[in-house]
Amino acid sequence: MGELRDFVAEVLERRGAAVEAVEPDALEVLAPKPVRDALGWPELALLGFGAQRPERAIPIGLEGDWLDRFGGLLGEDGRWSERQLTLAGRAPAPCDPQRVLEHALDLPNAVWRFHGVTPTFTRCLLLAFRYTAISDEKREGLVWLGFNLGTGAVIDDIAARLRRLLALEADWQAPDPEVRAAAGAGWDGALIQSRTRPLLEDRVKLELEPFLRAMRRRLERDRSRVHGYHDDLRRISLKRLATLSGATGEKAEADRRRETLRVTAIEREYRAKLDDLRHNYALRVTVDWVQALELYVPVQRLEVLIKRRKGERLIGIDWHPLVRAAEPPPCEAGLGLERVRFVCDDNLHLIEPAGQAPCPSCGKAFCRACHPAACPRCGTAVKAGAPHRVFS
Ligand SMILES: [Zn+2]
Ligand SMILES: [Zn+2]
Repeated sequence: MGELRDFVAEVLERRGAAVEAVEPDALEVLAPKPVRDALGWPELALLGFGAQRPERAIPIGLEGDWLDRFGGLLGEDGRWSERQLTLAGRAPAPCDPQRVLEHALDLPNAVWRFHGVTPTFTRCLLLAFRYTAISDEKREGLVWLGFNLGTGAVIDDIAARLRRLLALEADWQAPDPEVRAAAGAGWDGALIQSRTRPLLEDRVKLELEPFLRAMRRRLERDRSRVHGYHDDLRRISLKRLATLSGATGEKAEADRRRETLRVTAIEREYRAKLDDLRHNYALRVTVDWVQALELYVPVQRLEVLIKRRKGERLIGIDWHPLVRAAEPPPCEAGLGLERVRFVCDDNLHLIEPAGQAPCPSCGKAFCRACHPAACPRCGTAVKAGAPHRVFS
C-alpha cells in the first residue's frame, strides 16, 4: 500500500492539505474546505491504508471509488507533460552504423547507402489511452503509442523501454532551451490525430483479441444450448403432429390444433431467446486519451541515401543511445508494423507492402502516400484506415 499512500499524500499536499505519516500505514490529514467537501472528510481526518490501519481510520484502497475521487482532485493536471532524459556524458554513437542499418532496413525494391551520423536531440511523443470493452463481461486496459516527432517513426518498443528508464529517474528535468531547439517543432493536432487513429485502432483490437475470442466462445455455447433445448421440444411436437396426421374426428382435430400452436410458441420463444443473447453479448468499446508525455532524448541521427531508379532521397533513422537501439524506418502509408518498406517510383515514399497494393477495382498498383484518397487510374476511393493487419 506504500505507493498508494505516497500518491494520496502528494495529491493532498498539492491541494493545500497538511499531511503527516502515522504508523502503521496511515496518514493524518488537515485538509482545506474544498478538499474536505470533495471527499466528505472532517477537518482532521485519519486515513488508513492496508490491513494494519488504526481503528478509527477511514480505510482507503484501490477498490471502491477512491481512485476516481482522487482523480477528481487532480482535474486536468498531469494530462500533458514534458521531460528531458539525458545521458551522463556524451551520447555515444553506434560503433558500426552500417550493421545497425542492415538490421533496421529491408528495402526489397531500392538500394541504400549510409551517408553520415549526427548527434542531436529529438522529441518523442508518448500517448496513453484507456480502452473499455463491455459485453456480457468487461475488460479494461491501457495502450501506449510512441512516435519520434523528429523522424516520423513509430517507436512503440523504444518508447516502452524509455518509460522504464524514466521510472528509475527520480529527478524531473524540464527540457533545456537548446535541447528544445535542436529537437525541432512538434506536430499539430491534425497530424497527431491522423497518425494516432489507425495505430490505436489496431492496437486496441489486438489487446481485445483474447477477450473477444472468449466472448464468442460463450456466445456460441449459449446459442447452441438455446437451440438444442428448443429444437428438442419442437421435434417432439412435430412427431406428435405426424402421428395425428391420419386420424380423424373432433379430438384428433383439437390435438392437432394444440400441437400446431405449441410449435408456433416454441419458435417464438426461440427467437426471443436469441434476441436476449444478442442483447446480452452486444459489444461496446470506448477508447479515451489519458496522458501525453513529450520526451526529449539524445539520439544519433543516421542519414541514409535511398536510391530507386533515377531518384534518390535522404532519410533519417534515429539510433537511441539510452536504450542502445535503432528505431524502425518511417512508414508514409500504412501502419508500418513490420520492417519491410517499398520505395515508390514517383516520390520515393517509404511505404509498407500493402501501401502499394493493386487497386481492388482496376488492378493498378499505386502508392498510397502519393494517392491517399483514390486510385489515380479509376478513381475508386481508398478505404479509410487501410491498409490494415488482418484479424481472424
Ligand atoms: Zn509515393
Ligand atoms: Zn483503380
